[in-house]
Amino acid sequence: MTAAPHATAPAGLSPALTGRLVLWSVVAVNVLIVETVFLTADPAKNAILGFGKWLGLHLALVMILQLLLVARIGWLDRRIGMDRLTSWHRWTGFTLFWLVLLHPTFVLLGYASEYSSTPLKEFKALSGQLPVLLGMLAAGIVLVAAGLSVRVARRRLSYEAWHTVHLLLYVAIVFALIHQLTEVSTFTSSPLAEAYWWALWVFALGSLIVGRIVLPLVRNARHQFRVAAVVPESDNVVSVYVTGKHLDKLPARAGQFMIWRFLGHGRWWEANPFSLSAAPDGRTLRLTAKAVGSASARLRTVPVGTRVFAEGPYGAFTALSRTKPATLLIAGGVGITPIRALLEEATGPTTVLYRAATTEQAVLLGELQNLAKSRGARLHVLTGRTGAGTPPNTPFAPENLLALVPDITDRDVYVCGPAAMTDAVLRSLRALKVPAAQVHSERFSLAS
Ligand SMILES: Cc1cc2nc3c(=O)[nH]c(=O)nc-3n(C[C@H](O)[C@H](O)[C@H](O)COP(=O)(O)OP(=O)(O)OC[C@H]3O[C@@H](n4cnc5c(N)ncnc54)[C@H](O)[C@@H]3O)c2cc1C
Repeated sequence: MTAAPHATAPAGLSPALTGRLVLWSVVAVNVLIVETVFLTADPAKNAILGFGKWLGLHLALVMILQLLLVARIGWLDRRIGMDRLTSWHRWTGFTLFWLVLLHPTFVLLGYASEYSSTPLKEFKALSGQLPVLLGMLAAGIVLVAAGLSVRVARRRLSYEAWHTVHLLLYVAIVFALIHQLTEVSTFTSSPLAEAYWWALWVFALGSLIVGRIVLPLVRNARHQFRVAAVVPESDNVVSVYVTGKHLDKLPARAGQFMIWRFLGHGRWWEANPFSLSAAPDGRTLRLTAKAVGSASARLRTVPVGTRVFAEGPYGAFTALSRTKPATLLIAGGVGITPIRALLEEATGPTTVLYRAATTEQAVLLGELQNLAKSRGARLHVLTGRTGAGTPPNTPFAPENLLALVPDITDRDVYVCGPAAMTDAVLRSLRALKVPAAQVHSERFSLAS
């Protein structure tokens, strides 16, 4: 059953702000604990080595944060959104990269200065010890994964190839964990410090295993998703209806997405995120996909009855984020999918702006018109090529948005569409001074 949408503004902090506050407070508290652990441990033999070890402690903390950001913790995901969490994961990944370079550099320099030797000699000596060797291997894997995540390298790799390399990071984590807990004295400097690190690692790895393995397995065993129908919406867009058992118990909301794998149809290792294009009704889930590559193109031929392995629901692009009674929903192209679902749940004054090259290309338009009518919402289909004509067609310029929705600053605005359109809308909303807490966007890409 779908959760009841908010008819009025919820009081207090917005869910997004609450999520951020909790996450960053937890990080701040842990940084403080780590500084305390460092300051209360026996001092290192010299300042350079001490700095190297200090970097090592922070390296471990960043690694744990990296895991938590992609652990798909439901509470965080519903408030912050997977797109934002994965984008933070990307940026903390680059911090990890620098720490992985600097930590061993300073440790080697520290030992070299202590024993009047050279960093190379120390490297050779230390690599003979298994825990240090494991640390070095972990560092090597992190450096390769970070290198492949730089945009210019990432663009040359398929999503699946990049993802496989990324999975090697779990091996790096195991190596790093052994390295940390068996080698470095600061981690085991006191029973309290040791207990703290164990607790932190168990929490991070536990969250990851539950969020990414246990929960999806349990949900799929319980719901036993199957394809119920495949309906072409246009030449290159198709809707897939999925049924299953106890779907009323699946905590899915309009605006969320799931990561879908169609078993026995195509490549089992390909899993693709698609939004729910209708509000979940407890009996059926629907996704609507545009063919852009091999997996999305194959959906048109998926046989009815195919078993589906679905992860989720995920995402914060829901009515949970609402702060105002009135709503503006803005969609471009296939970005209509979560917007169509949100319209089904809409309460209060609602306006929908749907950008498409032509009305013929506006998929789900008939449904949208019926829904708008039944819910008393206003629907504007904005067609034409951007920049064409005199004056140029710029439907999302601030003055045009304001003309269509004069009370825009007093609405929650949900935006989903191609990257360039979403950016243009977000710029205009800033220019119109729509408060950031009222602006909610979903991008059809996760940071990688
Ligand atoms: C949160 C979210 C919701 C989405 N909802 C819809 C929707 O409702 N309708 C729709 O048509 N499209 C949606 N997309 C886009 C859709 O996921 C991609 O178009 C699809 O995965 C492309 O896969 P492909 O194999 O056909 O093409 P490919 O050419 O293999 O992939 C094209 C691009 O899609 C992205 N992609 C592919 N696989 C994944 C994956 N497993 N995880 C993340 N990104 C991936 C990558 O950036 C890749 O470069 C959504 C994307 C996201 C992130």
